[in-house]
Amino acid sequence: MRVKVFIKTYGCQMNERDTEAIAGMLAQQGYSIVDDENAADILIFNTCSVREQAERKAIGKIGIVKKLKKLKPHLIIGIMGCMAQNLGEKLLQDLPHADFVIGTGQLHKLPETLASILDERRQLALLTGGKEVLTSMGTHYRMSNTKAYQAYIAVTRGCNRFCSYCIVPYVRGREVSREIDDVVAEAKTLAADGVREIMLLGQNVAAFGLGGDTNPPPENISPFADLLFELNKIDGLYRIRFVSPYPSYFTDKLINAMGTLEKVCHNIHLPLQSGSDRILKKMNRQYTAEKYLEIVDKLRKAMPDITFSTDIIVGFPGETDEDFEATRMMMKKVGYDNAFIFKYSPRQGTPAAKIPDQVAQELKEKRNQILLKELQDCTAAHNKNYIGSIQEVLVEGPSRRNDKRWSGKTGTFKVVVFEPDKNTRKGELVKVEIIRATSATLFGKLI
Ligand code: SAM
Ligand code: SF4
Repeated sequence: MRVKVFIKTYGCQMNERDTEAIAGMLAQQGYSIVDDENAADILIFNTCSVREQAERKAIGKIGIVKKLKKLKPHLIIGIMGCMAQNLGEKLLQDLPHADFVIGTGQLHKLPETLASILDERRQLALLTGGKEVLTSMGTHYRMSNTKAYQAYIAVTRGCNRFCSYCIVPYVRGREVSREIDDVVAEAKTLAADGVREIMLLGQNVAAFGLGGDTNPPPENISPFADLLFELNKIDGLYRIRFVSPYPSYFTDKLINAMGTLEKVCHNIHLPLQSGSDRILKKMNRQYTAEKYLEIVDKLRKAMPDITFSTDIIVGFPGETDEDFEATRMMMKKVGYDNAFIFKYSPRQGTPAAKIPDQVAQELKEKRNQILLKELQDCTAAHNKNYIGSIQEVLVEGPSRRNDKRWSGKTGTFKVVVFEPDKNTRKGELVKVEIIRATSATLFGKLI
């Protein structure tokens, strides 16, 4: 009988991509990947440590599965990903029912780790080697929640930017880019397998191919734009998205490429973090609010229908009412269509965690709520502007609330709900006339 593995993923798309690669490696070795943790012989938690809450959630869950091990003593429990790298062997001491911890640079060693645990039943920690593995994790196992026509491709790993609040450079190591041909070959294989939309991943994805230089390149340089040109040529691929670009890497070359390449989607996730220059400096973000707006402006000129999303941190140490107002103003000026608004969470070992002037939790909560409300109003107003327009929608399948209706997304990342006809297929592009809009969804009819 095949050994059954359940993998739970926490955190970002990069972790989801790692999970697919881990699952792929295990499937190739004859393991069976299952959706039910109760049916599994091996439980793997692929964790995140960007915020304290993410760590707490994973530790809580791993604590709960102790009772499963009591019922099934042969059960193997493993912890992987950023939190594993961050807390290391301490996890095995605090959670003695866990069998192994594998850090971010050692994920490819999972099969041999499992084999050795199955042989010897001892605890193992593999944490050395901060450098991320790029090539040996190329498989794309289709998890039960993976959409058949969409795929993530990791193009860079690690990060060299050292924003003062962020743990990523410490747990994921220095930035490394893949070779352009390697990425293009992966995208071609995916397109041949029916993938229609790829999402390129990297902590600072637009720094692809720059050799880890922390100085943004001159305006006429962007190896990332060269990559987009090559990917744009692939037959069968309809859409290219990417996340997350650091604002300063939007050179004119990249912006022009985005404006001319028809498969590159007109939706950008452009992390702002704060609208206050004083706080941006303390965050070690190397742009000002003015520079950020200049980039937004250039992108809008190149793609008039572009939509923006962003990451904001409220309650960074020392954030005053005035700083917060500057963030509110920036959000209004840019007019985001989506935003992830995070309450600052001190991460041990980062410079910001040592700043004494921490903001009270209630104030972080209040600022968070204000931004969320204003964001919703902004999105609702933008969505109304779509009424009467005809949108090209990549079909995803039956909508979550009502399976008689289907949904899909525009290139600008708007969810569109419509009634399918007998020819409607998942993964195809259709034209939909928008007739109604809420702050979350556009509703329309097929034309
Ligand atoms: N590399 C991406 C970038 O710079 O845009 C972001 C990657 S990070 C995993 C995702 C987001 O988490 C960041 O943009 C930031 O807003 C948020 N974040 C990181 N560290 C944080 C912290 N200590 N507290 C709260 N939010 C944090
Ligand atoms: Fe963290 Fe900054 Fe790197 Fe993003 S760019 S991963 S926020 S250090």
